[in-house]
Amino acid sequence: MRTAIYPGTFDPVTRGHLDIIARAAQMFDRVVVTVAVNSAKSPMFTTDERLTLVRAAVKEARLPNVTAEAFSGLLVNFARKKKASALIRGLRAVSDFEYEFQMALMNRKLAPKITTVFLMPHEKYTYLNSSIVREVARLGGDVTDLVPAAVARALQQKLKHR
Ligand code: ADP
Repeated sequence: MRTAIYPGTFDPVTRGHLDIIARAAQMFDRVVVTVAVNSAKSPMFTTDERLTLVRAAVKEARLPNVTAEAFSGLLVNFARKKKASALIRGLRAVSDFEYEFQMALMNRKLAPKITTVFLMPHEKYTYLNSSIVREVARLGGDVTDLVPAAVARALQQKLKHR
């Protein structure tokens, strides 16, 4: 059983994340999407909301070997607990590289047996990130091509109550 962990903030999950999740789901027996609790980013969505949206997106995309959990603390400890052999990260552009490289090497130092695997999304998602989605939604733009349907609805709801 080969398990991979895909960690992130997912505030909210986008079609870019989902592209990476689908690729990982083909390569591994099981993928656990881990939604970071302790985010320094003061997320728009609560941990529970982000988790619910990841689960809805995965269901919508019909990916039965993907589950989602919240996590806080050291990622490699969570990965060990899940008996994962890999950490999945997405690489969109050179701008992602430096930070991702640093994280991957640090995680390898902490847990030499766990390998970080970088996957590239379809090029139509390379400009996409959660903060640009939040910004477009906030300003009233159409995000339906950028996020799963459940996320588009959640953004509408969230912004209505502001
Ligand atoms: P973090 O706060 O850990 O960067 P994110 O949820 O923003 O969390 O991203 C999680 C992972 O998904 C990161 O590896 C990031 O590079 C990747 N990612 C984010 N958006 C995309 C996208 N559009 N295409 C491919 N990978 C992406």
